[in-house]
Amino acid sequence: MLSTERFDNEYSPAKYKEILYSDGINKHPLKIYDPLGTINDFCDSLQSIWDDRVQAKLDEFKIFEFDGRGLLSGKRSRQDRDKIRLLAYCGYSKDGLSCGCAPLVIGNNDTCMSCSCLICKKCDCCFVNCPGYKSRLEIKKLNQKKIPYPIRKVNDRA
Ligand SMILES: [Zn+2]
Ligand SMILES: [Zn+2]
Repeated sequence: MLSTERFDNEYSPAKYKEILYSDGINKHPLKIYDPLGTINDFCDSLQSIWDDRVQAKLDEFKIFEFDGRGLLSGKRSRQDRDKIRLLAYCGYSKDGLSCGCAPLVIGNNDTCMSCSCLICKKCDCCFVNCPGYKSRLEIKKLNQKKIPYPIRKVNDRA
């Protein structure tokens, strides 16, 4: 659909679900058991990136790769050495708490210069062990240093 010059405005990747799922519970695509919901996640991912396709400049990409965990990457041409992350979710977690912010979409979220992953707007994380993430945290800390309490005006002498 991306490669056609004038695409149908009615087109929506979510409509694949109507064909794939007849049970209405999105568990059995074409009656095949899919316990991890990979096909359902794939449809949701396609819809997310489709919704943001203009911002993401998706039409520049020619080669796509989806991994079952909801991560979509792409290349602009076969000559490109590295894949660029197009769609992801925030994988940050600490002490049993996770950020879980999703979807992160290229064009809407910044791309980390160190690891090429998308940066979560909520927690600034791209990849927990990334040096880029660590330096962003440092900068944030510096910016948040408390402004000294305003010095009280000495009462005007009467
Ligand atoms: Zn990074
Ligand atoms: Zn996050």
